[in-house]
Amino acid sequence: MNAPAYIGRFAPSPTGPLHMGSLVAAMASYLDAKLHHGQWLVRIEDVDKDRNVPGADREILASLERCGMRWDGEVVWQTQREALYDEALARLAQNVYPCGCSRKEIADSQTRLGQNGNAMLVYPGTCREGLAPGKTPRALRLRTPQQPHRIISFDDRWAGHVSQDITAEVGDFVIRRADGYWAYQLAVVVDDAAQGITDIVRGADLLDSTPRQLYLQELLGLPHPRYLHVPVVLNADGEKLSKQTGAQAFDTGASAASLLNDAMLPAARFLGLPIEAQTVEAFWRAAVPAWGRLLERQGQV
Ligand code: GLU
Repeated sequence: MNAPAYIGRFAPSPTGPLHMGSLVAAMASYLDAKLHHGQWLVRIEDVDKDRNVPGADREILASLERCGMRWDGEVVWQTQREALYDEALARLAQNVYPCGCSRKEIADSQTRLGQNGNAMLVYPGTCREGLAPGKTPRALRLRTPQQPHRIISFDDRWAGHVSQDITAEVGDFVIRRADGYWAYQLAVVVDDAAQGITDIVRGADLLDSTPRQLYLQELLGLPHPRYLHVPVVLNADGEKLSKQTGAQAFDTGASAASLLNDAMLPAARFLGLPIEAQTVEAFWRAAVPAWGRLLERQGQV
């Protein structure tokens, strides 16, 4: 049997309930999967055990269902997949080294602005040739090529051509954190490949991370998915909506009408889909072709 031509996913971190920002990412990935008659998987990214909020995973899944977004197959939790990350680490071994630097030491040495104007800490390479004297191993870092620098480029289906010098703009990056937790970059790459993901649709706050993920895919001999990064919803202060910036969760007790009018239709308008609908079913009937027309207008299909 041929592999399905399109497998997409939504990969929320269970740090709180779904809010307008995460709904936009969920909706865009769902619309793109439906437009392409593909599968849509849900993966709970709970590797950062300090940030997980008990019950948030179930709340997110319940909100997706209430919004009429039905996933294919079983939901997976990253904390149940840590053996896969161990295997990947073993395959990367010759490019990995222990680092004893604290975040503050790195921040004091170098910070740069990334693709979206986010401040990015660039690792200065202190422990690359061995732990500096007096340091104890904390995180595990992946070497980035030094000479020549490694430039990673890709064509994003929404943002267009993206290019990042990972040597200068990121530096050797963490794949297992000082607290022993797996880094997002490694876990996401391993899982996207293990689940056969062909298309990643997510918020542009992750545009900066994609070149690192492409590089990891290359080292691990994994296929590169296609990427589409949608704009992120900002609050009145221009910050990305998140639990930390006070994003409002939807009221899971809200009526279907309020879910539609106060959450789904505004999320669709944010994506540039000026649709009208009185029911959740009618919403998706209108939204999928509208997403297709939007991509066609932008030459992004
Ligand atoms: N878990 C990440 C987040 O919630 C998203 C990861 C991804 O889509 O690659 O921000």
